[in-house]
Amino acid sequence: MSVIKKVTCHVVSTPIERPFTSSRGWLYKTRGSCIVEIETQDGTVGWGECYGPSHVARSFIDTQFAQRIIGRDPFDVEVIWEDLYNRIKDYGAKGMAIAAMSGIDIALWDIIGKSTGKPVHKLIGGAFRDTVTAYATGLYFIDMDRLIEEAVEEAQAYAQDGFSAIKMKIGLGSPKLDLARVEAVRKAIGDDIRLMVDANHCFTVPAAIRLGRELEKLDVEWFEEPISPEDIDGYVQVTQALDMAVAGGENEYTRWGFRDIVSRKAMDIIQPDLCAAGGFSECKKIAAMATAHGVECVPHAWGSVIGVAATLHFIAALPDQPPSFRPMPALFEFEQCENPFRDHLATEPILLVNGAVRIPTKPGLGIDIDRSVLKKYAV
Ligand SMILES: [Mg+2]
Repeated sequence: MSVIKKVTCHVVSTPIERPFTSSRGWLYKTRGSCIVEIETQDGTVGWGECYGPSHVARSFIDTQFAQRIIGRDPFDVEVIWEDLYNRIKDYGAKGMAIAAMSGIDIALWDIIGKSTGKPVHKLIGGAFRDTVTAYATGLYFIDMDRLIEEAVEEAQAYAQDGFSAIKMKIGLGSPKLDLARVEAVRKAIGDDIRLMVDANHCFTVPAAIRLGRELEKLDVEWFEEPISPEDIDGYVQVTQALDMAVAGGENEYTRWGFRDIVSRKAMDIIQPDLCAAGGFSECKKIAAMATAHGVECVPHAWGSVIGVAATLHFIAALPDQPPSFRPMPALFEFEQCENPFRDHLATEPILLVNGAVRIPTKPGLGIDIDRSVLKKYAV
């Protein structure tokens, strides 16, 4: 047994060339992350990532968690999870405290994999599949004078890249404009490409239901975050009113956070983020709970190659929902906006091949981190 020796948070950030926005406003002028590095006594290094404001995640780890895990056995990953959670839950049962724990949990699973010579998916139940169909996340709002044209061009480019599924942003303050934009994209990509929409919780319940009924006519597969995440009663209403699937949960945390959504069937699809909701240890529990209630689990992914790799291992180990002759397993969210940490932080990038992505097979997360990228963009 080799115990944990050192915990280091790398906060990285870079401005991007073409800032983009969702219904939430101009949040995306930079890309960055809090990357967690954990080293054991024998020199094994594991990597994790935390979703959300990087400095806040680093502060939680540096001041609350790091000293608590130094000297412990990384194989006690769930023991450590429970200990950290019970340390922080009076102040941080949701949000950044859990995102910080997620980065630690992912890094510990990476260490366990490297120590045993097994990829993480082999440690959490095995691979139901060795590739996963990816969907492109993009079609944000960039040029306010060309909102429809730019969406059409971007969607066509994804189709050309081989994506068989695309998710676009809606929520432009005018359901008519949203609808016209989705209509134009559907027309441009044809009927064979799966299309989803994401409102980033900008609608009221009646507005979401009215718009949803129109989107159903355009064969939109799911309506992501139609309304505010706190309003579980509202989600029950929207989900019951619409035939299309309603998705959400990228801003929910832990099994306790997802319990009420799942047990009330407030959404058809929950989207826990590996780097936010509690890492592998917790997301496995969330997914199992969802299965028991007939709710699909399709993880959210937004971040560096570390979050991407973690999500791929997690999806590899998700049973088909439901099992069948020709099942339709969870899609992998392959976000396509400018992000050097997704494209260059690993020595070999994770690529789309024929609309799908290979599950990494090397030990741990199965990626090698290029430290020069951490150095170049260090904050
Ligand atoms: Mg979303």
